[in-house]
Amino acid sequence: LLDPNYLRDHIRTVPDWPIPGVQFRDITPLLQNPESLRVLVQHFVLRYMHQKIDVVAGLDARGFIIGSIVAYELNVGFVPIRKKGKLPYTTIAEEYELEYGSATVEMHADACKAGDRVLLIDDLIATGGTMMAGKKLLERLGATVVEGAAIVDLPELGGSKLLREAGLKLFTLVDFA
Ligand code: 5GP
Repeated sequence: LLDPNYLRDHIRTVPDWPIPGVQFRDITPLLQNPESLRVLVQHFVLRYMHQKIDVVAGLDARGFIIGSIVAYELNVGFVPIRKKGKLPYTTIAEEYELEYGSATVEMHADACKAGDRVLLIDDLIATGGTMMAGKKLLERLGATVVEGAAIVDLPELGGSKLLREAGLKLFTLVDFA
């Protein structure tokens, strides 16, 4: 069950979604099946249970699902990094480039404090822009991003390489070419 091919077999590929030419890697079957959800969570728990982690930060929106379960299992708190305009209190923001246009992510200014050791989680790394923006937000508050974790890496899009070159350690479970 801990063979990464087990997880791969529970990820569905949806062709031409959300736009023609994109092969969307849909993790909802992985979450829906009780056994694969448990296996998925255990991969992250086994990796981080003996590391010093103070808080888990999850990226909007699928990073919230897996990130909050992992935070609960590690017995630490959870912090959401959200798309612009969703958080009610004082926020800090990072804008990043998309293929067409740009996007902004925000985090509450008191979501973590200087010196916190943070595990940053999302479901998938494509161009790496989302996770890079999350890393910047956390570092602006003086936190240390211990590692970026995701279920899926799309290495051909170059994001994981960029993130590693920017000094972020990464842990991903399944690659899709
Ligand atoms: P990036 O910023 O690395 O280009 O894109 C990653 C973000 O877009 C993640 O937050 C992820 O949820 C979403 N994303 C992009 N492509 C896919 C995909 O094929 N499958 C899933 N599940 N999410 C994707």
